[in-house]
Amino acid sequence: SDDSRYVSGHNLVVDGGFTIVNNGSCMLEGKVALITGGSSGIGESTARLFAKHGAKVVIADIQDEPGHSVCKDLNTESASFVHCDVTQEKDVENAVSTAVSKHGKLDIMFNNAGILETPKPNILDNDKAEFEKVIGVNIVGAFLGTKHAARVMIPARRGSIISTASVCGTIGGVATHAYTSSKHGVIGLMRNTAVELGQHGIRVNCVSPYVVWTPLARNLLKLNDDEEEKRVYSNLKDAVLKAEDIAEAVLFLGSDESKYVSGLNLIVDGGFTIVNPGFC
Ligand code: NAD
Repeated sequence: SDDSRYVSGHNLVVDGGFTIVNNGSCMLEGKVALITGGSSGIGESTARLFAKHGAKVVIADIQDEPGHSVCKDLNTESASFVHCDVTQEKDVENAVSTAVSKHGKLDIMFNNAGILETPKPNILDNDKAEFEKVIGVNIVGAFLGTKHAARVMIPARRGSIISTASVCGTIGGVATHAYTSSKHGVIGLMRNTAVELGQHGIRVNCVSPYVVWTPLARNLLKLNDDEEEKRVYSNLKDAVLKAEDIAEAVLFLGSDESKYVSGLNLIVDGGFTIVNPGFC
């Protein structure tokens, strides 16, 4: 009616105040999540956000001390750490088994551990051993995480597997041949397993960030924090991506809010790849 003549574009929630009280804070209540690379950066932010949303979180990483310290912050009831090198199948198998034996199941697998080579613009300067190392952590790690998560999710007939790719998985990068190849591979792996595991009720997706100011990006760009603050990594006015912004996208993919989303590469780049469709 005309009584709402100045109301437009709103979502009128009729819930007796439920969403005010819950404030969206229980999107993962009762869920169990395993996060590789959870001791730092995007993985750490995701662990914190998942715990805030009621999940039991197991962090799997090669960096023990920071991983334990994140868990201590989150409290031992909801978070625990397991040492895991994602290139080692027995470590990944053990991390999945630890999550299941501790909490009885695995709902969300976040394959997030990743590394970047020292950038070299000329492929002739690229070194086979370093190339294989990046492929080993980024693709083989995501493969092993997906495989062992599927091992326990198939009998449960449910689950959400998410891998961190990158905008470098869709467009070309500058001087990071191994990294760009690996992230294209992570998206390929996701698409293949989404087809297969969908038959078992398991969703498989990727999140693809643009530059987020974590230790990984600091090593690449060699900027100090003041210089970084001046850079704008997106097409959205004044947007500077943070690890927390990527964690929000992972939360969506892990939660039942995305229950019919599978096979998606969710790009979180403030529109960067629309403006720069071929090269970053
Ligand atoms: P980060 O360096 O802060 O965190 C990476 C974590 O992975 C660290 O805790 C590290 O110990 C762990 N890790 C490395 N090798 C491992 C291994 N073999 N086994 C287990 N854990 C291992 O970096 P980040 O930026 O948070 O990176 C997380 C993911 O995000 C990576 O896959 C990365 O490629 C991706 N990514 C990052 C950016 C960015 O700009 N930061 C952009 C796009 C994609």
